[in-house]
Amino acid sequence: MQFTDFSLDKRLLDSLKHMGISTPTEIQQQALPIALAGKDLMASSKTGSGKTLAFLLPAMQRIISSRPLSKKDPRVLILLPTRELAQQVYGQLRLLVANTQYKAISVLGGENFNDQAKALSRDPHFIVATPGRIADHLQQRHLFLNGLELLILDEADRMLDLGFAEQLKAINVAADHKRRQTLMFSATLDHDSINDIATTLLNNPSHVAIGASYAEHKDIEQKVFFADHLDHKQALLSHILKQPEHKQTIVFTATRADTDRLATLLAEQGFSTAALSGDLKQSARNQIMDQFSRGQQQVLITTDVASRGLDLVNVSLVVNFDMPKFAEEYVHRIGRTGRAGAKGVAISFVGPKDWQNFLQVQTFLRKNFNFSTIDGLPAKFSGLSAKADKAVGHKVAAKAKAKTKAKSAVKAKAAPKRDKRFITGVDIGDAPMRRKAKPTAIVEQDIFDKNSQDLDD
Ligand code: ADP
Ligand code: MG
Repeated sequence: MQFTDFSLDKRLLDSLKHMGISTPTEIQQQALPIALAGKDLMASSKTGSGKTLAFLLPAMQRIISSRPLSKKDPRVLILLPTRELAQQVYGQLRLLVANTQYKAISVLGGENFNDQAKALSRDPHFIVATPGRIADHLQQRHLFLNGLELLILDEADRMLDLGFAEQLKAINVAADHKRRQTLMFSATLDHDSINDIATTLLNNPSHVAIGASYAEHKDIEQKVFFADHLDHKQALLSHILKQPEHKQTIVFTATRADTDRLATLLAEQGFSTAALSGDLKQSARNQIMDQFSRGQQQVLITTDVASRGLDLVNVSLVVNFDMPKFAEEYVHRIGRTGRAGAKGVAISFVGPKDWQNFLQVQTFLRKNFNFSTIDGLPAKFSGLSAKADKAVGHKVAAKAKAKTKAKSAVKAKAAPKRDKRFITGVDIGDAPMRRKAKPTAIVEQDIFDKNSQDLDD
């Protein structure tokens, strides 16, 4: 099957030709007919399998081939969980729009609000955005969605994890009319949290799932190493980065503080390194991504802010320096390599503090990993029995409790003013954020410091 077999406008086929793309991937083959027929769709397929074009092409086709519902309102709104991903999708959309008379803009957290209001007032047909910022513009009445024809949610499950359910609902209400079509995409759409929002946002959707989210990604070789402590992890990482077979590498750490510390250390060891974290200014984030995507650094150290969607062709190795807190993020993190048929390697370090998260990953993937070793860097740690695991849990909890006690003692002595750094509900951008309640906050704080979730808006 070829793209020419779909009833796509010639201009779209020309753009695809320019991109060197002729044969649709499996998700594209299955999603396109449904989306082109105007039906709502929930679609999942593995990382790097071409989901972006599976929604951009039908979106373009709909706009080209149908009359607008409104002359002023945007016709297509594409929502993504992070700014980097939104920028990437915007870049792909622009290639398709360039051939037409349609206008596309991006509206991202961290960028100038008034400039965005101006751009919105020029009645773009397509908006690519992060949900917090769009909700803000809706509230300010810079934007109306009564004429919205197509709402697309990429990495929808991640937007929910980041606490954007309210914003998504507000957007849904603003665009609540019978002729709206809604598409939802991710590599992991099969967890519970998605069902509620899907019922709210989608109307009798078709479902397409190419492979299960836990199915092994054949192009990614997965390896795990035991690690005793931080120094051991660092030694393992240095050793692995010295291997000449890897092109670019993305290293995921649990917290922003770790990202910076590790980047400094690797730079001292002579690796060309960049660190991307959500608390940087947007201009710095853009610059880092731009340089890394042009191959100026060998290693990018980051948090889950970069786990989703990013398509960087030269990344052949992903390292989980710390295991992710949510098992599905493992699937997305390792999916930064092995894209579009290329081969990649994913390496994870598992220390005592990672053990629980590692077990969750195994359960999620329905897989039992065999641990690898590196000569000269053996680990004493070899996993925890359920009993020992509990004991570590208690120890960590007790330590955290002691810390909290010490903290509250300090607080009691200090003036009763609230420390601004601990105001919740305010994040790195300027959209109101609602963080998920943490059921075992004390234990988690010890393992992952308070910045462990790298939120975006
Ligand atoms: P996903 O969203 O499923 O993770 P992307 O949409 O980011 O994947 O696509 C991954 C890569 O595959 C991109 O570089 C994209 O240009 C490329 N790609 C998409 N569709 C095709 C296709 N039909 N043939 C070849 N390459 C494709
Ligand atoms: Mg994607």
